[in-house]
Amino acid sequence: MSLIKIFDTTLRDGEQSPGVNLNKQEKLEIARQLERFGVDRMEAGFPASSKGDFEAVKAIADTIKNTSVIALARAVKFDIDIAWDALKGAEKPAIHVFLATSPIHMTYKLKKTPEEVMETAVSMVTYAKERFSEVEWSAEDATRSDWNFLAQIIEKVIDAGATVINLPDTVGYTTPKEYGELFRFIRETVPNIDQVALSCHCHNDLGLAVANSIAAVENGATQVEGTINGIGERAGNVSLEELAVAFKIRSDFYSFETGLKLNEIKRTSDLVSKLTGMYVQANKAIVGRNAFAHESGIHQDGVLKNAETYEIITPEMVGVSSNNLFLGKHSGRHAFKDRVKEFGIEFTEDELKQAFDQFKKLTDHKKEVTDDDLYTIAMEVKTDSSAVSKYQLENFQVQYGTENVPTATVILKTPAGDVVENSCSAPGSVEALYQTIDSLVEEDVKLVDYQLNSVGGGKDALAESHVQLVVNGETVNGRGSAQDVLQASASAFLNAVNRYIIKVKTIEKKELVK
Ligand SMILES: [Zn+2]
Repeated sequence: MSLIKIFDTTLRDGEQSPGVNLNKQEKLEIARQLERFGVDRMEAGFPASSKGDFEAVKAIADTIKNTSVIALARAVKFDIDIAWDALKGAEKPAIHVFLATSPIHMTYKLKKTPEEVMETAVSMVTYAKERFSEVEWSAEDATRSDWNFLAQIIEKVIDAGATVINLPDTVGYTTPKEYGELFRFIRETVPNIDQVALSCHCHNDLGLAVANSIAAVENGATQVEGTINGIGERAGNVSLEELAVAFKIRSDFYSFETGLKLNEIKRTSDLVSKLTGMYVQANKAIVGRNAFAHESGIHQDGVLKNAETYEIITPEMVGVSSNNLFLGKHSGRHAFKDRVKEFGIEFTEDELKQAFDQFKKLTDHKKEVTDDDLYTIAMEVKTDSSAVSKYQLENFQVQYGTENVPTATVILKTPAGDVVENSCSAPGSVEALYQTIDSLVEEDVKLVDYQLNSVGGGKDALAESHVQLVVNGETVNGRGSAQDVLQASASAFLNAVNRYIIKVKTIEKKELVK
């Protein structure tokens, strides 16, 4: 079995998914989970793209110890310098420098000749190598590039000090056979290719990302780049969990394995969907709600007689546990703390108090609190702890009837400590609630997206709402959970507004000081 390295880019390519907007704490929680999951490398972000991204990459670099933390950089000194600033505290820092090599990108986007592109790639890899011992170089849009040109530039970039060569299928255009042949061609043509690791990076525009990545591996790639749940630009990236489980289940056929802890898949997937607001479809392979559900009578009967009749993967293998341990009204602080600790979450005393209070409130209405509920509460506290004073929902009431105009009354505490109140009517109850909150918030707010989901099953399941707002021209996401859908919706809205406030008060202040 050869060990294939896993390069996770959930926090960079995944975070580029439309509508996804993670804050620093959320990125840190995902990074911690990726470390537990056992990825070899995590691409934490693109520090030159924004101050917020820089801060997040730095926080991850300073926290994560067992996984190499990597940052993306264009082939310019500015990006490489900033990446080093963000990563210098990391245990195993690495940089990922990219430059497009396809005729269409070189001509229209870069406005450079192939010779100029080659010169830039070599000089920037040389420059990056002065600071980083690990330098990955990506030929952006490799699958639409001239193969001979690719071979030439790769040879030079390796001489300049690159340690990993990545051939991304940036636009999700290639096919398994073609992509495999590209890897074989590069491996057989580039004389110094043995000095580096070869990496594949596939997008799923044609639904071929997993097949393409496997073809690359069969033809010499030793590293696969992808994301959890396959999130990413457009149709997304390769789903790392699908690839890893395919290697495991078909180990009779494939001679590859990954170092991923497969029983952490479910938790990693849940965390990423919860924090990004990108829920996976029910029939998604490995992590979809229906991935282990057998509906037809014949299938059910077969599974009862012998699970292997229709089940090729056991839920336990990927961390889907059937024996949920419930906590309830009489569970104490200790039981609560221990349970949360099993998720790998460490609370400060203050966070523990907040989370335990929320848990107690929930047990007033819900008899059995599931792991999903606990995880939701824990993440809410973990990703929202900030000393900045924010808007707080004091009280609200919504009147709805099929024959009346829905009306909401809301009482809020503002960041300045004032208590304000207003009522508004609108065609729908959520709309009335949102209009009222909007009227009380000083910021200019526009609602872009609204989602409502249930956490786990049952009629007393927690509701979880995700919103995307544009606050004073800046896009922010918010999340809220509660037993009632309206309360979850109100919390999500305020959470987004508060995130804007935290962002402005913390990051921009630092920017001014600098
Ligand atoms: Zn990509």
